Amino acid sequence: MSHKHIKRASDKSDATVAEAGASRKPRGGRNPDAIPGLVTVVPGRAFDLAEVDTRADGGLDKAAAGPALAEARARIAALQERLYAEHRRSLLVVFQAIDTGGKDGTIRAVFEGVNPQGCRVWPFKVPSAEEADHDFLWRYHAKTPGRGMIGVFNRSHYEDVLVVRVKDLVPEPVWRARYDQINAFEAMLTASGTTILKFFLHISKAEQKERLEARIATPEKHWKFDAADLVERESWDAYQAAFAEALTRCSTPQAPWHVVPADRKWYRNLLVARAIADTLEAMDPRFPEAQPGVAGTIVPG
Ligand code: ADP
Repeated sequence: MSHKHIKRASDKSDATVAEAGASRKPRGGRNPDAIPGLVTVVPGRAFDLAEVDTRADGGLDKAAAGPALAEARARIAALQERLYAEHRRSLLVVFQAIDTGGKDGTIRAVFEGVNPQGCRVWPFKVPSAEEADHDFLWRYHAKTPGRGMIGVFNRSHYEDVLVVRVKDLVPEPVWRARYDQINAFEAMLTASGTTILKFFLHISKAEQKERLEARIATPEKHWKFDAADLVERESWDAYQAAFAEALTRCSTPQAPWHVVPADRKWYRNLLVARAIADTLEAMDPRFPEAQPGVAGTIVPG
């Protein structure tokens, strides 16, 4: 993909992050469309979520972001058609966030216009009895995208080192071993032709409060409100620590984690859409060769 792992000039500490202008390749030496803000976790370095400003907007405004998002969506749609036709490789897009972090809204905004036949979205909830009877990766592996497909995970195998850790659902040595198991799983998928893009939608605690209050205040949003979210909110710090360790341990060269400043929904959508479009562009899917003699074939009356 075209993200460059560049040390931030402002990075005083131990360079735990690299900024990636989630945009197209530079033309004429500079990148007119570069949008700072998508933070790629550097493999092998401890990552501190506090380094990312959740309210970042890249100096853009909402009005300018609209057409830019439409352009990124058009690129995704055109490239998806090629990926589907090529039928050789696949793209897996993973979304993780704290409650109200915006996974659903991002998926709706970014994949609008994509041919539904070539894209599947899988939400992962509390495991069923059958799922819980298997190894933790079983249910995720069953939903990975086949050739030509884009697969979207709304929550993912990372829950097994996030909620499972915070709620103490298995002993620590069991969830600790999972970082390596996840890396091996993702390496196997990558080697099998699946490109993996992982986004952590990063909101502040104050923003979560506002979003929960909006759900309470708006009757049309009541269905989204779950009193359990208030209980989870009490574990905010434990979740942040769990996210930071998962991002640190499972950002690999072939499947790095991207942290998206997500307090501003329009900026979040634009960053994610551009990163997906750039990734598909770098994959460079091609239409298959036509059978000889197609052009000029006459269809009998
Ligand atoms: P969402 O918040 O994703 O829109 P829900 O409100 O139904 O959907 O929440 C799904 C719940 O499932 C979350 O509380 C999440 O922590 C839980 N969950 C997901 N995966 C697992 C897992 N592997 N083990 C335990 N709980 C899980």
